[in-house]
Amino acid sequence: MSTLDRYYNYIDGAWQGADNWMEILDPATDEPYAEIAEASTEDADAAMAAARRCVKAGALSSVRPAQRVTWLLAIAEEIKALTEEAALVLCRENGKPLDVARGEFEESARYFEYYAGMADKIEGTSIPLGDDYIDFTSYEPLGVSVQIVPWNFPPSICARSLAPALAAGNAVIVKSPEVSPLAMTFLMMACERAGLPRGAVNLLCGKGSVVGSHLVKHRDANQVVFTGSVPTGQRILRDAAERATPSVMELGGKSAGIVHAEADIEQVIDSVKNGIFFNAGQVCSAMSRLLVHRSRYEEVVTRARELAEGLTIGPGVDNHDLTPLVSRDQLEQVESMCRRAIEAGATCVTGGERVSDTSGYFMRPTLITGAAVDSAIFQEEVFGPVLVLHPFDTEEEAIELANGTEFGLVAGVFDTQLDRALRTARRLRGGQVFVNEWFAGGVETPFGGVGLSGFGREKGQEALYSYVQTRNIAVRIKSA
Ligand code: NAD
Repeated sequence: MSTLDRYYNYIDGAWQGADNWMEILDPATDEPYAEIAEASTEDADAAMAAARRCVKAGALSSVRPAQRVTWLLAIAEEIKALTEEAALVLCRENGKPLDVARGEFEESARYFEYYAGMADKIEGTSIPLGDDYIDFTSYEPLGVSVQIVPWNFPPSICARSLAPALAAGNAVIVKSPEVSPLAMTFLMMACERAGLPRGAVNLLCGKGSVVGSHLVKHRDANQVVFTGSVPTGQRILRDAAERATPSVMELGGKSAGIVHAEADIEQVIDSVKNGIFFNAGQVCSAMSRLLVHRSRYEEVVTRARELAEGLTIGPGVDNHDLTPLVSRDQLEQVESMCRRAIEAGATCVTGGERVSDTSGYFMRPTLITGAAVDSAIFQEEVFGPVLVLHPFDTEEEAIELANGTEFGLVAGVFDTQLDRALRTARRLRGGQVFVNEWFAGGVETPFGGVGLSGFGREKGQEALYSYVQTRNIAVRIKSA
């Protein structure tokens, strides 16, 4: 019998174990930290049946919307109460700094507060058709929303989709990632303590190719919300197509920041620190490329190098600047992409390899220059602390380089000349463009991609409408 702490699936309002348990490693030490029940397809069927019962009973959708406001606000308060305990678990299973883990739970609570404010304002319209008709639209929940979550920000990405789905009156089944699934269980605890009806939320941890795929193909799934990599998203879209199940796809990115000649370099360097080294670069909207006007290129490379070499590297519990990557696989993948870039002729200004004297999954902060525009390191997502820098001569060239990948998640512009900054921002491909601060925005601002970065929007008022369907009722009135 294992002595590790055990975490459970949450199905139909109850915590459930399993025949198989998945071991979760601590990325800072490579040692077992805890284990979690591995859900089976039978568990997925049980969760689906519970969610379907909740929908059929109208437990969320038929109540006065003010009741959903109360539930969501209560969930936010319970998350806040659990934050200290939950953040430590997230830090240990994921590797991220403890303060970042805390921030993630604060953001999770904020999603519930934000969408609580909208739960009683999902109003339809009345459409004039003359005296012989009354016509109106209403926004109605979809039913059962299946939500598949990646490992980089498990609680906050879960909250990002769960909160608007519940606000709109849907029941939800969440599939947590195989790596870093533990901290998400605290969100379910918060839902349980807030008194949400049975079956309204369910959490399953299991293999994507088994439980995830089973949920996506399930005849009772009314929606699939997927956040993760492009290849998995494409597979899920093919599966969802079998039943024409509506989907939201939040996929990867290869986002570029453009540094114009008159940019404020302090703002640029602050944004490099946050944009590519935050969460060890494991961020879909990371600033993975920096395109710099040739007149400032050497200066920016030098400053970025000073920054990278000055970062502290160590375990998340000690709040280091750069903490381990989530898994050995991820470390090997990032290191191999750097190696291939150098073999293809690029220069590694600093980093490019793992920290060798530790069993943890630590990657050195890395800067790459001289990469060919059509090379993998310039075109493909690395998902690690690796920044590619490249010079440009004209505004037109910068925009072409920034837009020259198949992705389109976010982009950024650094400039003190407002006209040029806004002109550039309008032409960048992506769902969100940051000006003079990478990751500006918040739970209030819509987020999502174009191209291989996906479709549909999360966050902000707009995301609520990803979780409803429009019904029109047209009434013929008899003449007097
Ligand atoms: P992944 O695609 O490997 O896995 C994501 C989830 O999908 C996991 O829960 C996994 O179990 C599940 N899954 C795998 N195969 C499945 C299948 N056939 N059917 C159903 N579910 C399946 O992604 P990851 O490695 O966990 O996360 C990293 C990726 O996520 C990066 O590409 C990153 O850019 C992307 N991401 C995007 C956003 C965004 O908002 N756009 C946010 C965070 C991460």
